[in-house]
Amino acid sequence: MVLIVGSGVGGAIIGMELAKSNIPVTIVEKGPFCDVKDSYKYYDEIDDYLDLSKTVCVGGSSVVAAGNGVKLLEEELAKYDVDISKELDEVEELIGIHEMDDSHFGKGTKKFMEAAKSIGLPVVKMPKFIREEDCTQCGKCAWGCPNDAKWSSQDFVKIAIENGAKLIDNTEVTEIIEDGGSVKGVKVKNSDGSIDIIESDIVVLAAGGIDSAIILQNSGIAAGEKLFMDPFVTVGGVIKDINYNTEVTMNALVVGGNFVLAPHYSILLNENIGDDDVKKSDILSIMVKIPDDNHGKIIDGEIIKENTIKDVRFIAEGAATAGAILVAAGVDPTTIVSTRLRGAHPGGTAAIGDIVDTNLETEYKGLFVSDASVIPEAPGAPPIVAILALSKRLSKYLIENI
Ligand SMILES: Cc1cc2nc3c(=O)[nH]c(=O)nc-3n(C[C@H](O)[C@H](O)[C@H](O)COP(=O)(O)OP(=O)(O)OC[C@H]3O[C@@H](n4cnc5c(N)ncnc54)[C@H](O)[C@@H]3O)c2cc1C
Repeated sequence: MVLIVGSGVGGAIIGMELAKSNIPVTIVEKGPFCDVKDSYKYYDEIDDYLDLSKTVCVGGSSVVAAGNGVKLLEEELAKYDVDISKELDEVEELIGIHEMDDSHFGKGTKKFMEAAKSIGLPVVKMPKFIREEDCTQCGKCAWGCPNDAKWSSQDFVKIAIENGAKLIDNTEVTEIIEDGGSVKGVKVKNSDGSIDIIESDIVVLAAGGIDSAIILQNSGIAAGEKLFMDPFVTVGGVIKDINYNTEVTMNALVVGGNFVLAPHYSILLNENIGDDDVKKSDILSIMVKIPDDNHGKIIDGEIIKENTIKDVRFIAEGAATAGAILVAAGVDPTTIVSTRLRGAHPGGTAAIGDIVDTNLETEYKGLFVSDASVIPEAPGAPPIVAILALSKRLSKYLIENI
């Protein structure tokens, strides 16, 4: 039996692929199997100092994803002798990545695109895994889609179960059991606090960029260094009745040298503008996201992550460019504010070349890691497609070698 820890982006696809190949699979998931529309209740904000978002439920953070499906990291991973070119194409097909129909571009997104173009910036439609026929353009992608119009890893968990996989939810893996350099199973904490051991000679850790590293550390493997999080701010200001807050979020993209920009609404902007007459529907705003230096670390369960001078410079360059687009789009320049710095792509903490080899296996035979933690450098862009491709590649390896 193959035991998979975590049912998010990295884990669910392996569960599905192995179950479809008649390999016995058990997925252990810390959170519950909630409805996608309720997934906003399972946000796990790490602390006030570091505004890093993830969700703890079946499907992991994919349930609150903005639906951005960008093919990336092919060249970066090739430097580490990991070729995901074929799997990137397979994943694109598997989750239906496409540019959305013009009917799903609202007034605010169109203004963003026209304004960016008018000041000489290259702007494209964002590749998405959202089904137009189910999407009512409510702007709630990151709350868990009320209409289940997006692909999420829950879809793969359901297929895995249909093909015989076992899902144990509400159960936290705390440690790997190892003997003589080979994995023997995992220690789990059940929802009632009791402790059990689940035996398995093959374990795939896919608990995400923070939690996989903590489990490895609890098990004697020196993970947890080189943490990145792709920090972002949202910069915006007032255009009366633009109604951007109800559009498909992040439906267009500007790729700058050191940052990416996409239209994006945040309630934090209303708080920072601080004028009760400014409604949510009066704001046009842009997310500025950067690839940060991977200088963070996890020590005793605590995350240490400070911005380097380069991080600050990249954010400043992106925010200045976002401001120029907003002004060209007709935003009142005297109203432009920014949110605080946040992050939603933690990774790097069990990097290929450091903690796992090119097959994603650790120093313990039979213990693999396949999630954002194996990515060696910050992508500065949506990583779901790359993580899926890495896990698809690992599925093939396991199917061939079990
Ligand atoms: C609001 C938001 C929007 C985003 N939008 C996009 C987007 O549009 N496109 C994109 O590419 N990326 C997006 N991302 C980022 C993307 O969701 C993550 O990078 C991706 O989910 C990481 O995959 P993962 O497998 O590493 O972790 P996850 O998908 O988070 O999966 C980890 C799983 O492990 C479980 N788990 C954790 N600890 C344990 C434990 N001890 N025992 C058992 N189970 C455990 C968790 O509950 C979770 O189910 C977004 C993220 C957020 C928060």
